[in-house]
Amino acid sequence: MADSAAMRVESLYLHVPFCAQKCAYCAFYSEPSGGDLINRYVAALIRELELVANDLKPKTIFFGGGTPSLLNLRQWEQILRALERLNLLGAEEFTVECNPATVSPDKAKRLRDFGVNRISMGVQSLDEQLLERLGRIHTREMVFKSFDILRRAGFDNLNLDLMFAIPGQTLEIWRATLAEALALGSEHLSTYEVIYEDDTPLFAQLQAGEFDVDENLACEMYEELILNATGAGFQQYEIANFARDGRRSSGVVENWSNGPTEAQHSSTPALQHSIPAFACRHNVNYWRGGSFYGLGPSATSYVRGVRTKNWSNTQLYCEQLEKGKRAIESREELPPLKRAGETAAFGLRMNAGWPFAEFRRATHFDLRDEWPAEMNQLVERGWASRDAQQFRLTPQGLRFADSAAELFLR
Ligand code: SF4
Repeated sequence: MADSAAMRVESLYLHVPFCAQKCAYCAFYSEPSGGDLINRYVAALIRELELVANDLKPKTIFFGGGTPSLLNLRQWEQILRALERLNLLGAEEFTVECNPATVSPDKAKRLRDFGVNRISMGVQSLDEQLLERLGRIHTREMVFKSFDILRRAGFDNLNLDLMFAIPGQTLEIWRATLAEALALGSEHLSTYEVIYEDDTPLFAQLQAGEFDVDENLACEMYEELILNATGAGFQQYEIANFARDGRRSSGVVENWSNGPTEAQHSSTPALQHSIPAFACRHNVNYWRGGSFYGLGPSATSYVRGVRTKNWSNTQLYCEQLEKGKRAIESREELPPLKRAGETAAFGLRMNAGWPFAEFRRATHFDLRDEWPAEMNQLVERGWASRDAQQFRLTPQGLRFADSAAELFLR
């Protein structure tokens, strides 16, 4: 464990593994909510927090799931008071994922009172039939109502999650959802192309021939997304993520104090594609290869080059913590160059790509020394561009980011 406050981990993820019901496409670890198990989980999560608190000074906190907003007010109070007692409150960005069906004015106000300043709402679609097809528990009306509740509670940083290429979704339906979602005026937009994971009802329907995958339509929807989101004032900063840049002044993003600081504050004209002010800092830390603690069942941590994963079983997770142990299922220590390769691959998902100095700061390796041939190959293919300061994927390269990234994995 680090003995210096300066070395403490600045990013904290907490997984809430409960959902009211399972969505048709979802392979995340979650289970149906049950009162007693949730109470037991809350106690175990607090125990896990106590075990790592001395190594944490969070600048970003993210409650994801599952459905964090399913926790009731008393359970939230317990967790937030524990964060307070352990001196973990005060993060610059504190996000909680919410399902539109489980947002209430009381809960929104309580979260805001404890320093939660960003809500990520899982909208997915604004078409009733598609919501039903996806197995979502909320209606389109609940999205508008919850958005209003959150604004009234004082949240000025809201994200909406949207999905495209859903079976049965036409280009017209996608355009209509996009138009309505953009009109809400959120600060951030995260999008997902449907993927067919083993052991999900949607995958079974695909296998049974109930529908076909239309790759061309998915590409058209992606293009439509970029066109409409940028037209509405969003800046794309990652393959699937868009944010407003509202707090910008004089070309310098205010208050950026982790991840991309060096690039953000450079006045070098060559550094295009900066990261917008409302970008999700928590995720930028992932893409920049930063350390983070992940607590809760199935959560992954990455701390100073060591990756650990908690058991994906809430009972087992609770049992371990009740014995005073962290519930770690696996541990992997990556060799430094392999770790740097993974960091390179992740960072290329961002429009800003990698400023060379930033990569060196993050990994202690130089992209130009370790991967010159790979970079040249991508530039020649038209998938990437480079100058004296940075390397990044072109819009065409971003579409094939997974293939491009593979070249950097050692
Ligand atoms: S609410 Fe989210 S985590 Fe829960 S089943 Fe649906 S997609 Fe999965």
